[in-house]
Order: sequence, then C-alpha cells, then structure tokens
Amino acid sequence: MNKENKLIYEGKAKKIFAHEDPEKVIIEFKDDATAFNAMKKSKYEGKGKLNCMISKNIFKHLMSYDIPTHYINSSSDISFIGQKLEIIPLEVVVRNIAFGSICKQTNIKPGTKFDNPLIDYYLKNDELNDPLLTIDRIKLINVVKTQELFDINKITLKINEILSEFFLNIQLKLVDFKVEFGRNSSGHIVLGDEFSPDNCRLWDLKANNGKIKSLDKDLFRNDLGDLIEAYNEINTRIQNFISST
Ligand code: UDP
Repeated sequence: MNKENKLIYEGKAKKIFAHEDPEKVIIEFKDDATAFNAMKKSKYEGKGKLNCMISKNIFKHLMSYDIPTHYINSSSDISFIGQKLEIIPLEVVVRNIAFGSICKQTNIKPGTKFDNPLIDYYLKNDELNDPLLTIDRIKLINVVKTQELFDINKITLKINEILSEFFLNIQLKLVDFKVEFGRNSSGHIVLGDEFSPDNCRLWDLKANNGKIKSLDKDLFRNDLGDLIEAYNEINTRIQNFISST
C-alpha cells in the first residue's frame, strides 16, 4: 500500500482503499470487534490478520469449486486485492442449526437442526437495525433483480454445501453464516465482503462433553472466552488441512 491508495470506505471491521486499477480495490482487515449493531465495541490485537488469512483461504477454496468471489490476490498480512463491486445491500444468512436471532424472534429452540438450510435476507442498513426482509419486500425495495436474487440463492446454498463439508473435515460444525454479494464490472453476481469467524458460527466438534463450544464471535458477543485463541485455532486447523491435501 502507498500514499496514492485513497481510503474509499471504512466499515466496522474493514477499510477499503482504491487501487491503481479502477476495477480493483484493496480490502484491509481491522482489529476492531463490534456486536449488537455496534452497541458493544472492543479491539483484539491480531484479529484483523487472522480474519484476513481465514477469508483468503476460504475464498480460494470456494473458487476451486467455481464459486465467483471478489478475491484476486494477497497484498499483505492484513489485506487482499479484490474486484471492485457494486455491493447489493442485503445480508444473506444461511442457517443449518437454529441459534441467535431466529431463537429470539420465533419459538424455535436453540440447537434445532434444520432438515434443509434456511436462508434469511436482511436489509443492510444500520439505521434501521438490519431488518429481516420477505421476498415480496425485497422486490418492493428494488435492490436486486429477480434473476440476481435467484443466482444469489443458488450460490449461497452451494457455498453452504462446500463449506459445511470443509469445516467438518477440521471438526467444526458450520451452524450459520452471513454473506454479501455485489455486481462486478461485467454485471455478474460475485461473493464479496469476508468469510471469517466474525460472520459465522462454528462449533468445535472436538469438545466431547456434549456442551456447545463456540469458536466464533459469540465469544465476544456473550463474553464466553478468548476470541484470539479461538480464531487462531480455526486458522491453524484450516492451514493444517490445506497443507495435508
Ligand atoms: N451475522 C453477521 N452480521 C450481522 C448479523 C449476523 O455476520 O450483522 C452473522 C452472525 O455472525 C451469525 C449469522 O449471521 O453467524 C446469524 O446471525 P443472527 O441472525 O443469529 O444474529 P446475531 O444473534 O448473531 O446477531
């Protein structure tokens, strides 16, 4: 990164810088942690680097299965170069097991396993507190074309299949996750943002006492334990798995 790389956008966990090539951006991970729409904030030294490493490996794994992602190449320990996208303001959440908000909003019990993955769409809008949408509301607010929504749905389910298997290999259960999509310069739908333990729930299957052991941002949300130790554990398992295959 040099002085010419202008800051385009700063979010809660990442900064986006301009690249010399107008079709690319530089995505830098921060150490900040936020939860409950940034009502709870903290900083964990090394989190940015861990989430960056995890995201790069996950994107590369998904691309090996022909999932379109914005990842192009690494640029530093805490950043990568990605395709510049026009972000679609939807947070796409997939749930394999009920946990978190769905258990507060419905009478579904935490830990309920779904026969089929559930997809929930939320409007990406902090002022409105990211409200849950319906398909009809998505059509009304006109943020995505019907065909694009169809593509997003299909790609998201495929990501869930690929990553559920990937994490099972390293004895982690992918409980749920959030992804975001955008349009690249050719107008194609591409997976953007990041994929890290900040945006998914991963339960340790090595824990054999029958209790849930979270290795994700729930540690921060609910003050359950050492976040960096957990993210390190995930990163190490991923790296060991990749080097063994
Ligand atoms: N999630 C996220 N960003 C959000 C909301 C949710 O990355 O703004 C992720 C969260 O980490 C979890 C999944 O989406 O893996 C489902 O989250 P949920 O709806 O249960 O909300 P929560 O109770 O975690 O806020």
